[in-house]
Amino acid sequence: MRFTYQAVERLPKQLAQGVLYHSEEFEVAALSCACGCGHRVMLLVPDSHQVFAQNGTPTVQPSISVCDAPCKSHYFVVGGNVEWLPAFSAAQASNVMRNQIARHVVHDDRQRPWINRLWIAIARAFARLRSALRI
Ligand SMILES: [Zn+2]
Repeated sequence: MRFTYQAVERLPKQLAQGVLYHSEEFEVAALSCACGCGHRVMLLVPDSHQVFAQNGTPTVQPSISVCDAPCKSHYFVVGGNVEWLPAFSAAQASNVMRNQIARHVVHDDRQRPWINRLWIAIARAFARLRSALRI
């Protein structure tokens, strides 16, 4: 299978086989899995992957590992061509998923202090209100 590059504003609901859709505005890219299983593969650009377009064909770095579909496909897309890598074992796939989740947790942690401060402020306000009503 060969992929063509298509710049879009929003990702279409139905992805055509062999088209890599890229929305620079929303920092995402999507393709229907190269193995033909029909799985919608989402890439966060530039968070997880880089997408380059040349002569209408995409190059994606690093490799695309489809860990959340039964096919467990793993491949590069280089100049529109699919270069297959050994499929991930179930253990490797769950490792990748765990790392991705860990990255998200780290990302969330950065926002937590602000939320914590808000909750502490609300809790204090309620405590003051409660003690004010008792008087
Ligand atoms: Zn697949």
